[in-house]
Amino acid sequence: MNAHALPRKVTVLGSTGSVGLSTLDLFELAKVEVEVVGLTGGRNVARLAEQALRWRPQVAVIEDETALPELRDRLKGSGIQAAAGATAIAEIAAADAQWVMSAIVGFAGLAPTLAAARAGAVVALANKESLVCGGPGLLRTAKLAGGVVIPVDSEHSAIFQVFDSRANAQVSRVILTSSGGPFRTWTKAQMAHATPEQAVAHPNFSMGAKISVDSASMMNKGLEIIEAAYLFSMPPERLEVLIHHQQIIHSMVEYADGSTLAQLGPPDMRAPIACAFAWPDRLPWPAPRLELVTSGPLTFEEPDLQKFPALGLAKAALAAGGAAPGALNAANEVAVAAFLDRKIGFLDIAATVAETLERLERTGELAAGASGDALESARETDAAARRIASVVTAGLSDARQAQ
Ligand code: NAD
Ligand code: MG
Repeated sequence: MNAHALPRKVTVLGSTGSVGLSTLDLFELAKVEVEVVGLTGGRNVARLAEQALRWRPQVAVIEDETALPELRDRLKGSGIQAAAGATAIAEIAAADAQWVMSAIVGFAGLAPTLAAARAGAVVALANKESLVCGGPGLLRTAKLAGGVVIPVDSEHSAIFQVFDSRANAQVSRVILTSSGGPFRTWTKAQMAHATPEQAVAHPNFSMGAKISVDSASMMNKGLEIIEAAYLFSMPPERLEVLIHHQQIIHSMVEYADGSTLAQLGPPDMRAPIACAFAWPDRLPWPAPRLELVTSGPLTFEEPDLQKFPALGLAKAALAAGGAAPGALNAANEVAVAAFLDRKIGFLDIAATVAETLERLERTGELAAGASGDALESARETDAAARRIASVVTAGLSDARQAQ
């Protein structure tokens, strides 16, 4: 029955984060025999070293170069090579793994994800920002190299499992579900005073801080709309969002004949990771099971675009195309960091994104990023938007202090 062998040589980019930990945990629980080529982390050198000693990769790479001596020290005598910096991460991403988990957060994930795609690996894509910024170029790169990108974002994994890619024109709607985030029932006035602690308290998942804030603002769903448009070649008008607080239905695909296919399961990131690991087979592992009798009623609501303007901003950026999605992402990364740093308020995040996009539009910079190379042009857009967003957040921060 098992026509496809499971991948053997794997690399986990962002192994020290939430998705990275879930990936290694799944390997452990499913008792798969993997040979780890590379593990990478951002700053948490203790956790990276601990993972390296357990999984014995050829190389462990820490992004923070000042942490290299400590990593070397912790791996001394183990035979595991220690390296540091963004270039070393992109190098290990392109090494000989058959399956690469892309679980770095933010734009920083684009270069290594592209490197893995160029090397022809199966890319298990959690890092949605790389698709938003690298767009169709990333998918083209994978295809040209004979590789494939399999989504790990739970909504896209759901769509991937029920989407008939031979019948793209017969798909009338793709419906992405959303938990609504921690502020689903808050008023806008309450959200104005939301703290980073409240924003990162997601109802169903324990995730990294950045995606947690994105879930609270619903920018996460906005980025996911763009991600779905690229992954499934869907025009914006066929992509919808539905609030489904319980997160049992992970997304749905409606066909021209009125039939809707949904993918269901308990909210657990290890499930979409397992799907991406074994595809087109299924990985047996002690997964939590869906018990519909005890899970309680499933509810659905329309998203509130007034309360969550980020959703509209992302849709507009997708419709505008070109550099707009990458600029939206960069402005959001700057704004989320400023919010987590208590420099700006929660509602200032979407305001920063809107203002940055307007300013870039006015100066004609959204038309920039025209270099032939996909990574270079994404970098130009990212840098331009970051520069402006930093000015905007500094202004908002000053205004806040003056109050
Ligand atoms: P996280 O913050 O927990 O982990 C991020 C990882 O990236 C860590 O290993 C961190 O050390 C590393 N990192 C951070 N900055 C880096 C840099 N500049 N260079 C290299 N490495 C760096 O985040 P997460 O929640 O695991 O999310 C990772 C990605 O997966 C994000 O793009 C997120 O949107 C996506 N995602 C996460 C979930 C989830 O449940 N956590 C679900 C769907 C999609
Ligand atoms: Mg998601």
